[in-house]
Amino acid sequence: MTENKKHSGNLTLLGGKKCLDFINTLDWRGRDRPVEYLNSFEDVIRWAAYVKVISLKEEKDFSKQAGMNIKKAEEALTITIELRELLYKMFRDIQHGKRTQKQDLLRLNEFLQQAFNSTAITLSLTEFELDAGVDTTTLTGLLSPIVWDAVNLLTNEDLLRIKSCADTVCGWMFFDISKNKSRQWCDMKSCGNRAKARKFYQQKKNGTI
Ligand SMILES: [Zn+2]
Repeated sequence: MTENKKHSGNLTLLGGKKCLDFINTLDWRGRDRPVEYLNSFEDVIRWAAYVKVISLKEEKDFSKQAGMNIKKAEEALTITIELRELLYKMFRDIQHGKRTQKQDLLRLNEFLQQAFNSTAITLSLTEFELDAGVDTTTLTGLLSPIVWDAVNLLTNEDLLRIKSCADTVCGWMFFDISKNKSRQWCDMKSCGNRAKARKFYQQKKNGTI
């Protein structure tokens, strides 16, 4: 929904869930040429730090690793995009009332398997928590919190609240927390206003106002 001087470290975060903001790193999905914000693994690291799935120290560790091995960084970027598009497809299928494809679930489980490697149960003063930590020994280790976020969304939340912006060209996804599940736009200020302006223009053209 946004363009111009945007990069993975300053994108507007309107998804309401990290895994949906992750999906929104590909902008204008309905265009012939969508706008990609993850063009290198550095972009991925920058985004992960921006949405706080990795700490500043982890950001430095990952950057160092990626800088030392260009080929590994390229491979990690490919896997990152694969995860993003897998989640996009799964959530789109859910929105369209389509049953999730077996191979998609299988692939998500493979990502989950990797995420388990860095997950531990921790104890605070009073309660146990599942800590979806980040495995810094491998570049794709930074994807674990995203995988967990998607798994939590799929297993613990109302799937009817996962929506795509009513502007199909925009293509952003968000988690609708409105009372009546009535949110239509990723952002009223951009996509919502454009739709309003289009409707006004059409009505004026038709002489209905
Ligand atoms: Zn939108």
